[in-house]
Amino acid sequence: MRIAPHHVPGTKEHELAQRIHPAPDYVPVKPWPEDTRVQWGDGIIPAVPFFEAFPPGTFIRGEGKDIAEAEARAFAQYEREGHCDHQWGRQRPGGDLYTNGAGWCRKCRAFRSSMFPPITRLGAHRKPLSTMELHHLESMETDHEMNEWMDRVYPDDRANRDKLKRLLRVRRHLFGVMERKTA
Ligand SMILES: [Zn+2]
Repeated sequence: MRIAPHHVPGTKEHELAQRIHPAPDYVPVKPWPEDTRVQWGDGIIPAVPFFEAFPPGTFIRGEGKDIAEAEARAFAQYEREGHCDHQWGRQRPGGDLYTNGAGWCRKCRAFRSSMFPPITRLGAHRKPLSTMELHHLESMETDHEMNEWMDRVYPDDRANRDKLKRLLRVRRHLFGVMERKTA
């Protein structure tokens, strides 16, 4: 696994994180693959301990009472995905229908950002950001190491990411952020 540099003492990202929002000390215990980037934290709003993994082309987030439990949940999801003969759909399990090309597996809930061609509709962007879109935008705005890594690994997708970032920013500016649904 590749531990995000803001967790690694001695890096400029770690120094910055210490000043802004220090991440708790933690050592991942699960056998994440070599090409998977990982990061964790206590959460800000809401303050829920989380663990995030970025295997190529996807994103897995676990939450729990502490980071160890969050990592265990994220890894259990990773293993579920590995053993699944996926059935992809545009519906987020228990959530909205996405027309931006994102797909979720109906069986294991795996996520892929570019599973389908996007469906465009007039006025489709006239709506507030979802929590997930907000998280995504914030990571594109603040996580420079992640962006550099994405540019390196997926250079062909750079223009799409830039376009998405502009679109999400405009929507946040004009329509704000959707209220978080209570589970
Ligand atoms: Zn699946």
